[in-house]
Amino acid sequence: MTVSKSFQRFMFLESCASETHEIHWPILNTKKIRGHLNPAGLGNAREFSEGSLGQTSVAFDTIEDYEHADATGTGYEGSAEYAIVRTPEAAQVTKKFAELHGGKGAVILPSGLSAISTVFETFLKGSKPTILIPDNRYFPAERALKHLNGINPHLGVYRYTPRASADEILKMVATISSDGRKVDMIYLEAPGSQTFEIPDLKRIIEFAKSRKILTVMDNTWASHVRFKPLAAGIDVVVEATTKYPGGYADTPSGIIVSASEENHRKISYTARVNGNGAVSPQTCNRLFNRVASTEERLNKHFASAQRAMTWFQAQPFTQDILCPANPRSPDNARFHTYFHKGNGLFTVRFKEAVTKQAVHDFVGRLNLFRVAESWGSHVSLVLPAHASRALETSPQPGERLRFSMGLENGDDLERDYSSASLALGY
Ligand SMILES: *Cc1c(COP(=O)(O)O)cnc(C)c1O
Repeated sequence: MTVSKSFQRFMFLESCASETHEIHWPILNTKKIRGHLNPAGLGNAREFSEGSLGQTSVAFDTIEDYEHADATGTGYEGSAEYAIVRTPEAAQVTKKFAELHGGKGAVILPSGLSAISTVFETFLKGSKPTILIPDNRYFPAERALKHLNGINPHLGVYRYTPRASADEILKMVATISSDGRKVDMIYLEAPGSQTFEIPDLKRIIEFAKSRKILTVMDNTWASHVRFKPLAAGIDVVVEATTKYPGGYADTPSGIIVSASEENHRKISYTARVNGNGAVSPQTCNRLFNRVASTEERLNKHFASAQRAMTWFQAQPFTQDILCPANPRSPDNARFHTYFHKGNGLFTVRFKEAVTKQAVHDFVGRLNLFRVAESWGSHVSLVLPAHASRALETSPQPGERLRFSMGLENGDDLERDYSSASLALGY
């Protein structure tokens, strides 16, 4: 008759001192606590991990169990055998994102940027790795590429215009291959950072597929709600879950979801070997619990943004509004093709006559809008939009402010920006 290990342990504990009891009683059954050595922790982590706020060691009952876990990199229920990377909480939240995107697997990282750089590190290998990026990319993504370039001087980074057609991409790929390079990755971000242009996604994806070029999309603007890149044929989707999915400025994290198991395995491996896959279980749990309300929150953010855009559009100090949801935007047709609804973001470009000081004074008079980086949380934010563009030959004049509408009452927000606008001198 085989005696279960936990029963064996139970019997042994009978004759142990109380301090030993205290330690082992909560972890009697190793499987039940998913290998956690300290499940006495707090809060809603309990659902996935019997209450730990993170673990390092993952416990097994036998060497055979451990060796199997070590060889396969798996502990309990999708988590890792050494749980700095892929804790049980991370396993749960990544499972959720893989489902939401219809992917074969997801990896969580400590920031959106670390998700992006992990993708670069995974796929930009070989003697002459080559990537195409949009000119309106999230700036730190390009900085990450510059850093990689220091490690591999043969890395080739080529820029395409923010509203690129498939034809433009095709021509670039042809020119690049005549230089003896193969394009490894077409990187997409749409709508792009700060200025929100949209390229011809559908045809670019079709073209990339026909050439077997990997497509990666930064889908932070849309979140999993407004656009599903994998369903549109993208290979790998990256999202800063720091933004809308977390929604309250307290979930620094990024997610990478792959359409294929093979790519997912490669990405998981990178995150495991470079140690960058370590995300606080508390963050994972917050994110897990917030994801369900993303769409509802986005709709409220968008309603406030629409109202504010309508207001700004009617003011004499406004030159134009950069937002694909704006009916006057050159990106509005593509916006309706891919995204349908917007979020809380838009950028106001003021008339040339509006001075920088006047814009600062306007912001100084705002009460509900904080000056801060990032976006997508419950609190309204505002920040000067300094878009650095390499392909833009004559940047348009006028001060620009990017707004991120929070979840405050719409009447309160309007009262705030309308009274502050007296500072603009019109
Ligand atoms: C914020 C952002 C990121 C990076 O997210 P972090 O979590 O802040 O590192 C990446 N892409 C886009 C488009 C973003 O707006």
